[in-house]
Amino acid sequence: MSLDIVQIPADPSNYTRNRAAQGGRVTHATVHHAAGTSLQGVDNTFRTPGRSASTHYGVQDGQVHQYLPETDVPWSDGSWASNISTVSMELVDAGGAPDWPVSEATFDTAAQLVADILKRHGLGPAVKGVNVCWHQMYSATACPGPWMLRNMDRFVALVNKYMEVPVTKEKKVQMYAYNGTDAQMWRPVLVAENAYTLESKAKPGYFLGVAGGAHRAGVLIQAQPRMANAARQQFKLVHYADRKYVPAWAAPLQIVPCTGNGKGLRLDVKAASKDDGAALQLYAANATAAQKFVIYDHGDGYWSLACIGTGTVVDLAAGGR
Ligand SMILES: [Zn+2]
Repeated sequence: MSLDIVQIPADPSNYTRNRAAQGGRVTHATVHHAAGTSLQGVDNTFRTPGRSASTHYGVQDGQVHQYLPETDVPWSDGSWASNISTVSMELVDAGGAPDWPVSEATFDTAAQLVADILKRHGLGPAVKGVNVCWHQMYSATACPGPWMLRNMDRFVALVNKYMEVPVTKEKKVQMYAYNGTDAQMWRPVLVAENAYTLESKAKPGYFLGVAGGAHRAGVLIQAQPRMANAARQQFKLVHYADRKYVPAWAAPLQIVPCTGNGKGLRLDVKAASKDDGAALQLYAANATAAQKFVIYDHGDGYWSLACIGTGTVVDLAAGGR
C-alpha cells in the first residue's frame, strides 16, 4: 500500500497522550463522517485549542491527514472504552444531509487505510462490528451517516480485499502459440528414473510445478521457485498408448506428474482449448490429443513442449514478470 499521509498535528488539548500508559491497546478501527465536505475543515477543528475532539486520520479522495499518532488516544467515539482501544478516522462527505455520502475515492482510500491499520495491529481479517466499527456503535449519534451505514458491508469486503497478501511467488503458466521466446523454453534435468525437472529460461530458478503439490483433476500447472526433491516439480514422459517410458525425442507422449506417484493424472490443456492463454492442468488420463505432447529439442539445452491437440506450447505468462 502506498498511502501518502500528511501530518497535521492536532492541538494537545484535544486528545490524551500515550494509549499504553492509559492501559489501552488497539482492537478496532472506528469510522466517522465529517458532516462536511472539506478536509481542511476537519484539520481546522482538530488544530483549534479546546475543541475536545479529534480522530487519528481524516480522509478525502486520495488524501489522508494524520492528526495524532496511533499511540495516542483520540476523543472521537464518545466512549472512553472505545477511544482507548480504537484507531479512528473522519471520512469527508461528498454531499450533505440527510444521506451524507462519501465519494468512491474516499471510500476506497479509507478501506486501504483500515486494511493497513488491521494489518499493523495484527487484527485481521476485517469483521463488521468487531474490528471495523462506526461511531453509532458507541454513542447516540447518526455518525457515520446513512450512506456509510448502508455501505458498511461493502466497505468491510473492500478492506478484506486490500488485506489479502498480494504477493504470490508462483508464476502463471499458460498455453500459447509458439513464438520462440524464452518464455516457451524449458530446461530439462533428469533427476530420477525418467523424472525431469523443467526450469524456465525466461525466469531461471523457476520450475514447472503442480500448484500446491495437489494431486487431483483441475489443479493448475505453474512456475514455482525451486524446491529440493519435490514431486510437484518432477514429471515423467510416457508413451500415451502403452505407458512405457520413451526417449524425449519420441513423440507423441504424455506428461505425468510425480505427485501421487503419477497415478491416474496427466498434464492436460483445459477443455482442449486452442486459445492463447488456455490453462495447463492435471486431468484424468484419457486418449485425447489435449494430453499428447511433442518435445522440440532446441539443441541448446532447452525444450519446447507442444500439445498435439491444440498446437500451442507451454508458456510462462508475461515471461514471469
Ligand atoms: Zn463520529
